[in-house]
Amino acid sequence: MTGELETKRAARNMGTPPKTATKAGEMKVFGRAGSTVGSDIRDYLSRTVVAFDWVDLVDADQCRDMLGLGGFETLDFPIVEFPDGERVFAPKPQDIAARLGWVTAPRHEEYDLSIYGGGPAGLSAAVYAASEGLRTILIERFAVGGQAGTTSAIENYMGFPEGISGADLAERARQQAVKFGAELVMMEEGVKARFENDRIHVDLANGSQLVAKSNICATGVEYRRLGIADEERFLGMGLFYGAGVAEAPYCKNEDVFVVGGGNSAGQAVMHLADHADKVTMLVRGSSLAETLSEYLITRIEARPNVEVIYNVEVAALDGDKILRRMTLKDLKTEKTRDLDASRLFVCIGGVPNTEWAKDTLIKRDRAGYLITGQDLLDKGRAPDCWTLDRQPYYLETSVPGSFAVGDVRHDSIKRVASAVGEGAMAVSFVHRYLAESH
Ligand SMILES: Cc1cc2nc3c(=O)[nH]c(=O)nc-3n(C[C@H](O)[C@H](O)[C@H](O)COP(=O)(O)OP(=O)(O)OC[C@H]3O[C@@H](n4cnc5c(N)ncnc54)[C@H](O)[C@@H]3O)c2cc1C
Repeated sequence: MTGELETKRAARNMGTPPKTATKAGEMKVFGRAGSTVGSDIRDYLSRTVVAFDWVDLVDADQCRDMLGLGGFETLDFPIVEFPDGERVFAPKPQDIAARLGWVTAPRHEEYDLSIYGGGPAGLSAAVYAASEGLRTILIERFAVGGQAGTTSAIENYMGFPEGISGADLAERARQQAVKFGAELVMMEEGVKARFENDRIHVDLANGSQLVAKSNICATGVEYRRLGIADEERFLGMGLFYGAGVAEAPYCKNEDVFVVGGGNSAGQAVMHLADHADKVTMLVRGSSLAETLSEYLITRIEARPNVEVIYNVEVAALDGDKILRRMTLKDLKTEKTRDLDASRLFVCIGGVPNTEWAKDTLIKRDRAGYLITGQDLLDKGRAPDCWTLDRQPYYLETSVPGSFAVGDVRHDSIKRVASAVGEGAMAVSFVHRYLAESH
């Protein structure tokens, strides 16, 4: 395998600076024109900063010319062609990651620190922990970057006056963590935790178990769903959760819709407006002032191809194989109307990824976020399950040695910078905990 993809793979192993402006053309992905099948692959490749050419095949002749394949109507799209010429039909992101050699197993039987989640908080913890000599492993169930990896431009993160894409920022952090010796296990998930003998034992989704002296939970939040019928059916077939970074270039000549009134929705609108004919922002409230940063409101109002519709919600989705229409409900009048819609981006916040904690002594708030530090105390007293004489450290959960950082934490500031800061800070507490207990 040669070219940029090879460079990227080498970078993955050696920690060289990331390629942020990669040359397209090494990996090719062939899709059918007009179909949104394969959007999950576009999303994965974009988030992992792999250069690829997306080729829309319009008919059987073009398919034969470019791929030498007949049966255009019956082929399983998308077709991924790797730089060495191997073709895979309708793969999942997991298959591509495995083919690129990015799916590995933990190398050690026990670690000083295991980190769950490869968003900004987890990556930051991995960089600091590994650089400070802790035997560190990070488990990420999909792609590094988490929510930040889905945004085209983070403009308020210190040190990047022109902004930086979330995927690039994450890729840099990943390389930095690897350079310092952290192990990163991708496409793997922690599903169940047990605390025993001053160790955390975590069942991974593949059936194996990971043991560590301490752990940091940085599992962030998952996009909130609309909660209406047919969402699963149209997922990736016109309905997308998040900012649509990978989809935006394929929205040319289209009218697209964004649901949500917060900053992530605002960023999505601005990014999509660079590509689509028109972007309509669907907002439940009657103004953006309370939910959106001033700078984004100014930009949205100045864009001629953006319309904001207030006091509405999406009530129904309709289509055949792909999304074709939706029903909007006016929240003031209760009246509904149908609109043609082929791409709908849902950016309405999220719910914490803490299912794994439900059978443990780790305390969660009513919404499921992990409670840490002072917030665990009731009239100055730690909860009954707390086993130590000292009080929990800031960022420590109700189980000693188990920390929570970033968006998954109760009352956290939902920002890249605060997630990164908490990741770094938690490592200091890990050192203290290990010094006192091991
Ligand atoms: C579209 C969008 C735009 C944004 N723009 C900005 C911005 O401009 N500036 C800013 O400051 N903030 C921005 N934010 C917010 C910022 O991205 C988040 O605050 C930040 O990503 C939180 O980081 P985190 O590491 O705590 O969690 P996340 O980013 O949510 O990462 C959590 C990670 O954990 C993984 N995971 C979950 N469960 C498991 C498990 N059981 N095992 C293994 N892995 C697991 C997930 O796959 C994910 O990768 C934006 C958010 C969105 C959605």
